[in-house]
Amino acid sequence: MVAQYPGIPAELALRVYTSRLLGGDPSLVLHGGGNTSAKIPMPDIAGKSREILFIKGSGIDLAGIDPPGFAGVELEPLRRLAILDSLPDEEMENELQVHKISARSPDPSVEVLLHAFLPHRFIDHTHAEAILILTSQPDGMNILREVLGMKVAILPYSRPGLPLAKAGLREYEQNPELEALAVAGHGIFTFGEEARTAYEHMVAFVNKAETFIRRKTRGRKVGPVRPEVSARKKDAPFFARLTQMIRGAAAFRTEEGKLRRFYAEVRSTPELIHASALREAGDLCSSGVLTPDHAIRTKNKWVSFGEIPADGGRLLHQVGDLVQ
Ligand code: ZN
Repeated sequence: MVAQYPGIPAELALRVYTSRLLGGDPSLVLHGGGNTSAKIPMPDIAGKSREILFIKGSGIDLAGIDPPGFAGVELEPLRRLAILDSLPDEEMENELQVHKISARSPDPSVEVLLHAFLPHRFIDHTHAEAILILTSQPDGMNILREVLGMKVAILPYSRPGLPLAKAGLREYEQNPELEALAVAGHGIFTFGEEARTAYEHMVAFVNKAETFIRRKTRGRKVGPVRPEVSARKKDAPFFARLTQMIRGAAAFRTEEGKLRRFYAEVRSTPELIHASALREAGDLCSSGVLTPDHAIRTKNKWVSFGEIPADGGRLLHQVGDLVQ
């Protein structure tokens, strides 16, 4: 990977390599989610040395990222922001734009300040499902503490930006031996002086969470499946009719009075068919998804029908409710 990018600092090439490893694992990162960074010394155009934070550009997919997918930002001006009590979004946006080292680079990820405040050279961040499953439990913070051990600080949820970055820095100052930060309802940050160390910490801690979940759910089956439900396979006229009904129910008028309709797509993977036949299907559909990344891929709230309404009346009503 280092040889593949001549002229690019070796640390950035390594940063690309482990970022792609993280991005290639959908249980860690969905398209566009998560972010990674590296702090690399790099002289400015007049030869003055300075430290640059390279962080994944907002909206870029880790799975296929290249060096231009990282935004380089001068580290020192970002670190100075730690003395502030608050930082409105527009001010932060401005700080990031004026301290970028290239006008052509993408916008830095919104989690840039936490990456800047922590001293570690390499930082990896994912919205790993196993971590989120645990933080979503009623006693999630304590469970996570028990599962991940003393080298992981557990933080309550706060919005990405200055508050989260300052909370992370405080945890590090209290315990410089930390290897990771887990944030309730958000995800996990792991770090190290080498790209490999940060990556290995990520894999190790997420594995711990996955093993715990497997142990706790062993022998417990989701379900049961309702026996009266059977999959309708390749019934094209049926799906065409149903899709049109749903599009009609979800149609709405803009403020200018224009009628707008959504596109509709039929997905019928074996997993979806199985989930739709569970007795818990209704609860699953209304419980919401784990992360904003999932919301982009799968959408957040679904309507569940025990059966397809014959006249479409109830379907129109429930779909209409959801669209409001
Ligand atoms: Zn995040």
